[in-house]
Amino acid sequence: MEPVALTEELVSFDTVSSRSNAPCLARVADLLEPLGARITLQRKPGDDRQVNLLARFGPDGDGGLCFAGHSDTVPWDGSMRSTTAAERDGRRMYGRGTCDMKGAIAAMLCAAEAVDRTRLRKPLHLAFTFEEEIGCHGAKLLETTIPLAVDHCLIGEPTGLRPVTVHKGYVTAVCDLQGTPCHSSDPDQGASALHAAVRAVDALLALGPRWKAQADPSLGLTPPYTTINIGMLSAGTARNVVPETASFCIETRPMPGVDADALVAEVRSAVADAVAGIAGVEFALSHIDKDAPFHTADDAPLAAWLVEQTGSATATVPFYTEAQIFNRMGARTVVCGPGEIAQAHRVDEWVELDALEAAAQLYRAAIEEFCT
Ligand SMILES: [Zn+2]
Repeated sequence: MEPVALTEELVSFDTVSSRSNAPCLARVADLLEPLGARITLQRKPGDDRQVNLLARFGPDGDGGLCFAGHSDTVPWDGSMRSTTAAERDGRRMYGRGTCDMKGAIAAMLCAAEAVDRTRLRKPLHLAFTFEEEIGCHGAKLLETTIPLAVDHCLIGEPTGLRPVTVHKGYVTAVCDLQGTPCHSSDPDQGASALHAAVRAVDALLALGPRWKAQADPSLGLTPPYTTINIGMLSAGTARNVVPETASFCIETRPMPGVDADALVAEVRSAVADAVAGIAGVEFALSHIDKDAPFHTADDAPLAAWLVEQTGSATATVPFYTEAQIFNRMGARTVVCGPGEIAQAHRVDEWVELDALEAAAQLYRAAIEEFCT
């Protein structure tokens, strides 16, 4: 196996999150079996099109190293430079998933092939997941059904091969308000869901300065505090009707150390207080989705080793990954992969060929350090 050609091959499978990743991971299983991997394919309950692939090498038992990555990609439209037919241009490869993150998966497979697997004294695991881009569903299934018991986990999301040990989490929700409609000529006969929504939004945005006052710059995150955004709002049906319904979306990005459930409770009570004085209006929060912030201490062995190998200090990223899910399973996780996030999720997504080769080398050295 060779990381550039293998990235090209993995990109040729259309694994947009809403479509199937099974053919792509079946191919990965075909590549791993001759290397002696023990493979488990885990299907998503109720949806056979989505699978997690787990492979393990080396001795039985707990501990060792896991390489993890998601096999799905974000979608594209007609303006995308190249999609599943990767295009090489100089020392770059363009195509969906080249950077996020089939290049890293290819580098992990190459590293597993390149090491002398008869020398493994600790287990080496590979964990490739589904539907990361739409809520880390594959990794969450793994956590609740067949949790891994490994010491170290490396996730190959694009970080320019810098070791990343911190990022924020997120909590999202939809707030629906139900009012009492009436003719606008006498608004006091009804109760405006829109008016209540405006008050609720105002109360929620007032949480921002409070969270800002608790900023913690020591982790290096930008900005160094929990944030809130109201991204969409809709209400009403006509100019001359007091609105019966209103709805808006809330997104917060909590800092490490902030409990996601406590954040939901804080949001709920801010809305409740704001609309309490408006008779005839009720509200409900729905579509609550959350993932905890990620933080691995810099003295974790894999983090310290990556700092030494890459010459890069530990860093942060402004996006969300599966890292905290692996930490909850007991690993000490570091995110470190080829390419930059700025090159991903865009119409000309690309990765440098040299970065793919450097990642394969680095991952091979990691196996030798932590498994032999
Ligand atoms: Zn990704």
